Amino acid sequence: MQPDLTEKILELIRRTSTDLPSDVEERLKAAVEKEAPGTAARGALETVMKNIELSRAQSTPICQDTGTPIFYVYHPEGWSTRKLKEQIRNAMVQATKKSYMRPNAVDAVYDKNSGNNLGGDDFPSIHFEEVEGEALTIELMLKGGGCENVGAQYSLPDSRLGAGRDLAGVRKVVLDAVQRAQGQGCAPGILGVAIGGDRGSSYYKSKEVLFDKLGVRNADPQLAALEERLTSESNTMGIGPMGFGGQTTVIDTKITGMHRLPASFFVSVSYMCWAYRRRKMVVKGEEVVYD
Ligand code: SF4
Repeated sequence: MQPDLTEKILELIRRTSTDLPSDVEERLKAAVEKEAPGTAARGALETVMKNIELSRAQSTPICQDTGTPIFYVYHPEGWSTRKLKEQIRNAMVQATKKSYMRPNAVDAVYDKNSGNNLGGDDFPSIHFEEVEGEALTIELMLKGGGCENVGAQYSLPDSRLGAGRDLAGVRKVVLDAVQRAQGQGCAPGILGVAIGGDRGSSYYKSKEVLFDKLGVRNADPQLAALEERLTSESNTMGIGPMGFGGQTTVIDTKITGMHRLPASFFVSVSYMCWAYRRRKMVVKGEEVVYD
C-alpha cells in the first residue's frame, strides 16, 4: 500500500524554505571575499550570510517571500499521483500554518489571498513523471517573485540586439537579460537558460535546469563553454550584489537545449535569486533521505 508522505513532505518544505543548500552557501561565501571591505556590495553579501545562518538555526524562512512552490515528483510504476498530489497540498497547508511558508497564493482576478498557499489546481505547481526502479523522488524549488519578474524570453532572430539563430545570438540575449535585470532579482543570481521548445515548454525547461547542483556543466562541450562564458561575462558588467556594483552578479549559469519548430527559435531565461531554495527527498521503502 502507498504510504502517507504528508509529514515527510512537510519536512521537505521546512528544509527548502529555511536551510539553503550547501553548494549555494559556498558560492556566496566565496563571493563575499571578492568584494572590497566597506563596500555596499560586501555589506549586502555579509547580511545575506548572516541571514542564512539565522534562518537555519531558527527554522525560519530565508526570505520573507517564500516563493512559488514548484514540485517535481518522479514516481515508480503503480503510485497514485492523485494521492501524492493531495499529500503535497495538505503538507503545503500545514507548512503555511507553521510559518515555513508565507501565504502566497493570490487570485489574480479577484485579488484575494487564499491564505493557505493553495490556489485552484495550479498552486502549488506539481509535475509528475513515472520512472524505473523502486525509489520515489520529490524535488522542490521555491522560486522568489522578484527574480521571477526579471526572467525573460526572446524570439530569435532579434534585430534590436543583432542576435541570430545560433549560440552567438543566445549569448547576446542572455547577457541582455542580465543587463536589464540590473540586480533587481536580488543578485547574485543563477541563470537557467533553455534554447528551443515553444514559449511554454521553453520556460518550464529553463526552470527545471535550475534543480541541478551548481558547477555541474552541460554534457555538450559547446553548451558547457557557453555556461562558463555567460557567468564570467555577467560578472564583468559591474552590477554586483543587489545591484550595488561589484564583482559577482551571477554565481552560475545552466543551459539546456531543446528541439524547436523550424519557424521558431526561443531562448528563455529564468533568473534565480541568491535565495536559491531547492531540495529533494528520496523515498525507498521505509527510508527517507533528504538532500
Ligand atoms: S527575489 Fe529572492 S531574495 Fe529577493 S525578495 Fe524574492 S525571494 Fe527574496
